[in-house]
Amino acid sequence: MSSVLQFIFLLLCCLNLEAANLESFSTSEDVRGLTLELVFDASVKASISYQSKGNVHIIRVPNAKSPKFKGRQELDHLLAISFHIKPVSGALEFWFYPRGFFGVSLLPQLDSQTIRIHAKNGYPTREEINPDGRYQVVCIDPGHGGHDPGAPGSKSVEKQVVLAMARQLRSEINKLPGMKAVLTRDADYKIKLEDRPKISDRVGASLFVSLHMNSSLPQVRGYEVFYLSEKGATQTLEARLGEAHSQASETLVSSDSQETNTIATNSSESILQQIIFDMQQVETLNSSAVLANVLADHLKETGRRNRGVRRAAFVVLKTIDTPSVLIEMGYITNKDDEAFFTSEEGKNRVTLALAKGIQSFLSKNDIKPAKKLSGNPAGAVEPAYAVYTVQSGDTLGNLAIRHGVRYSSILAANAGLHPDKLFVGQKIRIPVLNE
Ligand SMILES: [Zn+2]
Repeated sequence: MSSVLQFIFLLLCCLNLEAANLESFSTSEDVRGLTLELVFDASVKASISYQSKGNVHIIRVPNAKSPKFKGRQELDHLLAISFHIKPVSGALEFWFYPRGFFGVSLLPQLDSQTIRIHAKNGYPTREEINPDGRYQVVCIDPGHGGHDPGAPGSKSVEKQVVLAMARQLRSEINKLPGMKAVLTRDADYKIKLEDRPKISDRVGASLFVSLHMNSSLPQVRGYEVFYLSEKGATQTLEARLGEAHSQASETLVSSDSQETNTIATNSSESILQQIIFDMQQVETLNSSAVLANVLADHLKETGRRNRGVRRAAFVVLKTIDTPSVLIEMGYITNKDDEAFFTSEEGKNRVTLALAKGIQSFLSKNDIKPAKKLSGNPAGAVEPAYAVYTVQSGDTLGNLAIRHGVRYSSILAANAGLHPDKLFVGQKIRIPVLNE
């Protein structure tokens, strides 16, 4: 009898245990990845599970609640989209949505009240891919992905066609002596346009090639190679945005409506300033022009129609410090082009031509990988930052000029910073030059 009483007593004690409250959360980043830290006001224990449907990692904390924070919390990072706080029968669940398919794990607890969730940065660092600097690294960027399918064809969609092409181009490039290729995505997920150059920077690429398929009227076919326009960017931008709204064609920004709106509501002056500033390295721009022409020439070997080398203020090209082009390989809305790009022969011919073009360009031009912008190999000295409070009228472009650093290095130093959403009083990190 006494043991039954004891049991009831223990049970009552357990039920009366105060639930731990979520006090705060924060993120930090280093070269290994992104860490989300959750701090409670009492001891907690967590477990993690993975649900492939939705690509979500669920962290369960029994006997906890969250009076301060509810629902979806944005992370807006290259490695993670968001996490959701869900109370589930006396426990708290954190549904963590990574951006890609790299590992997510629970780190050992710092103390009994702090849980740490870690999203691994699965992109190789330049030291990993190229330890003794013998290789020239090419960053291949298959456009779109995830819930941004790109242009629709009759039997295929752009995000799939460009991923298949990118994978094959990578294997062609990897066959060439002294060259290595890395993809910005090797699966079907969405990467924000402004995050794609960060991957190119991390891997120390000498060159960046974004692959796309265009859409138009059924009879239009052929390829176009774009490099960044720094002149008349405002006009081009608006014209292109007009196109974006009137048709689901390849545009300046991805077909993701959120990104389109973001750019559309930004003042055109600040965009112009950013773009002009980004192109401060005229050399990069000239190299991009040469690269665009070399690739357009090599693509002639595929027998496809050359629609020419053009310039546009594509977002994905605008923070790149290496020669960079965006190729509209063909029109997915044209039956011949679609059939060609989804055939083995078509894929072989185009990727071979591009690999040869890239090799020819790199052999004739002395292209050095861009100077390191951010991140550091494990054990290396942490990059130095100054914290700056945003004032009225600031843009990332003029901050970069004023501090003598690159626009892209400010972006790289501030996880989740959106260049078009600066607000007065916001604290941002400005890299301190130590070279
Ligand atoms: Zn596209």
